[in-house]
Amino acid sequence: MNNCCDVAIIGAGPAGACAASLLAQQGVDVQVFEREQFPRFSIGESLLPQCMTFLEQAGLLDAVNQHGFQRKDGAVFLQQGQFSHFEFDEKFSPGPSQTFQVQRDTFDKILADGAEKNGAKIHYRHQLEALCNNSKSSNTDYTTLTIKDLTTDTTKTVNARFVLDASGFGRVLPRLLDLESPSDFPVRQAVFTHITDQLPDSFDRNKILIIVHPQCADIWLWLIPFSNGTSSLGVVARQEQFAEVEHLNHEQQLMHFVDEIPQLKDLLSNASVCAQVRCITGYSANVSTLYGERFALLGNAGEFLDPVFSSGVTIAMQSAIMAAPLVVKTLNGETVDWENEFSQPLRRGISTFKTFVEGWYNGDLRNVIFYPNPDTKIKRMVCSVLAGYAWDSDNPLVKHSKRRLKALAESCAQ
Ligand SMILES: Cc1cc2nc3c(=O)[nH]c(=O)nc-3n(C[C@H](O)[C@H](O)[C@H](O)COP(=O)(O)OP(=O)(O)OC[C@H]3O[C@@H](n4cnc5c(N)ncnc54)[C@H](O)[C@@H]3O)c2cc1C
Repeated sequence: MNNCCDVAIIGAGPAGACAASLLAQQGVDVQVFEREQFPRFSIGESLLPQCMTFLEQAGLLDAVNQHGFQRKDGAVFLQQGQFSHFEFDEKFSPGPSQTFQVQRDTFDKILADGAEKNGAKIHYRHQLEALCNNSKSSNTDYTTLTIKDLTTDTTKTVNARFVLDASGFGRVLPRLLDLESPSDFPVRQAVFTHITDQLPDSFDRNKILIIVHPQCADIWLWLIPFSNGTSSLGVVARQEQFAEVEHLNHEQQLMHFVDEIPQLKDLLSNASVCAQVRCITGYSANVSTLYGERFALLGNAGEFLDPVFSSGVTIAMQSAIMAAPLVVKTLNGETVDWENEFSQPLRRGISTFKTFVEGWYNGDLRNVIFYPNPDTKIKRMVCSVLAGYAWDSDNPLVKHSKRRLKALAESCAQ
């Protein structure tokens, strides 16, 4: 391992791999430090069509296209026996209308391998432990990272001219630099696994199915079919809503919620769990700033909202796409306005998703989604955001998302 590099990236998930690939293609000396050995499990399996453009820009789309992941062309919502279908090719914004439902162990490895092929160096089982910004104590223009090699149990230091934190839920720099700020969302918990689904032939595997719990509308489940006859199945509820099933193990908890929804119970009557059942609690997070001297935060290392609209990987890749050219400018000695060129434009799209997430849980968006006779133009605008086009300010529902969604929900309620 060289102990100097232009850019050190912490984490080789979608944000880290995209940033590494983009920078390496520009001739930048990029070293990625990834705590795990790939392939490794990760959650976040339903992509949005918007991220296909990001994959293309990062030079990673062909490898993803070639793998044979399950196609995804829309989303279906189910509440009290009523279905609402969204076809992404009926969206308002231009751009791809198809994407994939992916097993993240394989998907993330494809991206990381692609980044390496494009010139980045990835060090697996290397964990960032500490970081020291030298300019505070001297005139040097690099940051020193303390990296632990988990295979040899030894520690090394690496000097980098710029650091991108793409450590996801690890949130390494927010913790080390005291940048964490509370999320506006309550603590929610997700319990999830993979199942051999045995879904009937009539079931449309090309869509994510989101199911609203019939009694508690802020509890919801997801079913994400893959191309190999398995699906991802999960439930999301506030932490206290798990209290009555506290005595059960995670698999029993998940099945308890499935059994409470007759259509889902029917649909999964021949299914069986084929992977570890996992649980994540309190994943929503925010930070006081997305950048600082010689560093920027990408993907989940910055703000994470909620899984309901599958926005996480798209935001992660968008942050990499926005940051990479600014890092190059910084390395070239040009002045970069990280607030106006990175943080604000990135947060604008995140804020659109946030309006949707809030509207999902307070019922406004659910009223719009399940409105029986939707206006075609409005449905196209909603569909666009569901497809990930949250930065398209030509979409009125993006430009004034809060105000427009409120007005829409009110007219649907009438
Ligand atoms: C229940 C749930 C369901 C979700 N479903 C979806 C979905 O359907 N679609 C979607 O788009 N998103 C979904 N998400 C969000 C998605 O998981 C994340 O937004 C996405 O993985 C973020 O990518 P990332 O590259 O920022 O981080 P990650 O994918 O988390 O990658 C971070 C990497 O950093 C490494 N790392 C961590 N700490 C260190 C360290 N100290 N040193 C070195 N390496 C380190 C980790 O090992 C990891 O490989 C979901 C989230 C949750 C909680």
